[in-house]
Amino acid sequence: MKEHTVGPQETPELATTAQPTYVSLTAGQREMLLESPLLQGVPYSSVFDWLHYTPVLVLQRGETLIESGVPHGKLFLVVSGQLSVWLDPMPELPDENIAQRTMSGPEVARIFPGQSLGEQGLIDGQPPTVWAIAARESRVLAIPTDMAWQTMQVEPKIALNLLRMLSDRMRQANDGLRGAIAHQQRLARDADTDALTGLHNRRWMENMFPRTLQRFQMSERPVSVLMVDIDFFKRVNDEFGHAVGDQVLRESAQRMLQMLRPADLCARFGGEEFCILLPELDADQATAIAQRVLDAFDSEPLDLDSGATLKISVSIGVADWDHQVGFHDLVRAADNALYQAKRDGRNRVVTAHRQSLSR
Ligand code: GH3
Ligand code: MG
Ligand code: MG
Repeated sequence: MKEHTVGPQETPELATTAQPTYVSLTAGQREMLLESPLLQGVPYSSVFDWLHYTPVLVLQRGETLIESGVPHGKLFLVVSGQLSVWLDPMPELPDENIAQRTMSGPEVARIFPGQSLGEQGLIDGQPPTVWAIAARESRVLAIPTDMAWQTMQVEPKIALNLLRMLSDRMRQANDGLRGAIAHQQRLARDADTDALTGLHNRRWMENMFPRTLQRFQMSERPVSVLMVDIDFFKRVNDEFGHAVGDQVLRESAQRMLQMLRPADLCARFGGEEFCILLPELDADQATAIAQRVLDAFDSEPLDLDSGATLKISVSIGVADWDHQVGFHDLVRAADNALYQAKRDGRNRVVTAHRQSLSR
């Protein structure tokens, strides 16, 4: 059907730089709008003026329909094309690149034919809090809010439809919020987790271990630290490849965890080195745990994905906390003991003497 241009019935307060053109609706477009969520069940006669006498804006791709904070005084019904809704514009892009910005950045919604925009503003009279930009050439019926209110007074079905649409939108917003919170939690967890072994990482350890020591600061209750390092791990990589090395790290992490209590804190310190904090255990008890960990490796080879097995050993340094020094001194003492274990021939536990903890 041929469309003809009609003059604007009023000056639109559009935030677009381009001059919009005005066309009338086709019969098919009117039918489509009568079945839209807003006009469902509304008699044609009630919205005859909307469909015949309100301007249809033609937006080129990239043109702005709604600008956040700028009142437009309209209820918009999308007739064809697509609108892209954003929370923020991208001011760093010059205006001539406006078309490109629809495809990048924090787009929050796409509005398709039959859907509307500006319902919230219609209800509360507040300026919009989003931007709407044409994602492709689009036609939009722009109903002045006064006209919309007048029609709603004689045709309450529109108001009911509006309520249902706003309620749906609130549910969608809640779903979005739920998704965003879950995403946030995932990010926080990932930031504290070592991707290879699933153990906590160094970052988590640097945060959690001192906090745990702080809890024990005032009491006489003991705390100990183990530094565990796989012996000759470089050879595993060299002889069997990096992928097998990775498997050994994963399996070793699991084997260590099996030897620990739920309250013990175990982190991948880096490379093939692990740091374990043992609350409530003094040097003797921690040394016994270290020996248990060592025996777990010594008594049984690790299973590899290929079905093969690989025997490895670990060296462990133990230090208990004298409640005087800081977390890094405690770890350094365990690390010194670990290096002593390496020098003494590996596959063994060495416990730091308290003197080595003094500053
Ligand atoms: P030592 O008995 O003295 O501890 O000798 P080592 O070979 O175990 O220690 P060294 O520090 O010489 O080598 C550690 C190796 O661990 C070197 C590094 O490439 C490897 N490595 C570190 N991180 C990873 C990892 O995520 N995956 C794999 N496959 N290898 C790693
Ligand atoms: Mg090593
Ligand atoms: Mg090492």
